[in-house]
Order: sequence, then C-alpha cells, then structure tokens
Amino acid sequence: MIDIHSLPEKARKVEQETIRFFKSVKKNRMRELDDTIHALHEEAFDDINCLECANCCRSLGPRLTDRDIERIGAALRLKPREVISQYLRVDEDNDYVFKEMPCPFLCSDNYCSIYEDRPRACREYPHTDRKKFYQIHSLTIKNAETCPAVFQILENLKKEW
Ligand code: SF4
Ligand code: SF4
Repeated sequence: MIDIHSLPEKARKVEQETIRFFKSVKKNRMRELDDTIHALHEEAFDDINCLECANCCRSLGPRLTDRDIERIGAALRLKPREVISQYLRVDEDNDYVFKEMPCPFLCSDNYCSIYEDRPRACREYPHTDRKKFYQIHSLTIKNAETCPAVFQILENLKKEW
C-alpha cells in the first residue's frame, strides 16, 4: 500500500510528466486508451484494499444529487429536508456536499454505514473504469494526489506505454 501522507507530493512531482504523456496519447493512441486503463483499474483494485485507505471518504466527499438524498433519507428514515439539514451544505458550485469531512457516514473501521445507499459519486469514484476516459484525464491527474489506486494506474499506464 502506498503511504497516503506522501502521496500528494509524489503525485505532484510527476504531474507535468503525466500531462505531457496524455498530450501524446491524444495524438497517437486514443482508441486503445479505454481498454488499457480499464485493465489497469482492475489490476490496481485487486492490489489495493479501499478499507485500508478510505482517503476519498476522509478528504474529498461526493456531490449529492436529489436522488442520492432521497435514497439516503429512505435508508435513515428521514425526510430529504432532514437529510439536508443534518448532513449537507451547498457549496460554491451550488451542489449539495457533506457539511464536514471526514464523511459523517464513515465508520472507525473505514466501512461506510450507508454503503448500499451511498451517493452515486461514491460508487463511481475514482472513475478510472468509465468509458471515454480521456474526457476526465485532467481530473484523474488531480485525483492521483488523493487516491493511491489512481496514482498506481497512471504510473503503470506510463510504464506500459
Ligand atoms: S457516503 Fe460512504 S462511500 Fe461516500 S464518502 Fe461517505 S463513507 Fe465514503
Ligand atoms: S482513495 Fe482510492 S484507494 Fe482509497 S478508498 Fe478511495 S477509491 Fe479506494
């Protein structure tokens, strides 16, 4: 497991190199990118156990949609407005986010207490298995500072190519 505390510095050190790498991908190997990155995603998550990390639940937090709020409310037996008043605030982009981080649903053993009903953004993070990956490569370069799996995926991609 990569040391979470040294991860931001490590990721920033290779950031420019990764930006240049993606410029060359755009010119030469866009068609192959999704298949390769999805395989590296599987490999990284075979290696890394999120329950030993939980760094995204500690530091990033998701944007919550109205459907997320309704689902969480149903799970907690709260009305959507009660979920909002107890747990959420509106951020500078006008999106609902958790009032505070670490996430209020993160348990001390790193389990998510609303796992089955967690927000969609939590299910999809860190997005390295999505289609048309190139569209989110800049966000992914930033995510490498938070997520050890993303860091590993990008480093392996550069090595492989
Ligand atoms: S809702 Fe669950 S998965 Fe999402 S940030 Fe909170 S603890 Fe993590
Ligand atoms: S930061 Fe990445 S490796 Fe860590 S818990 Fe989140 S998704 Fe898993």
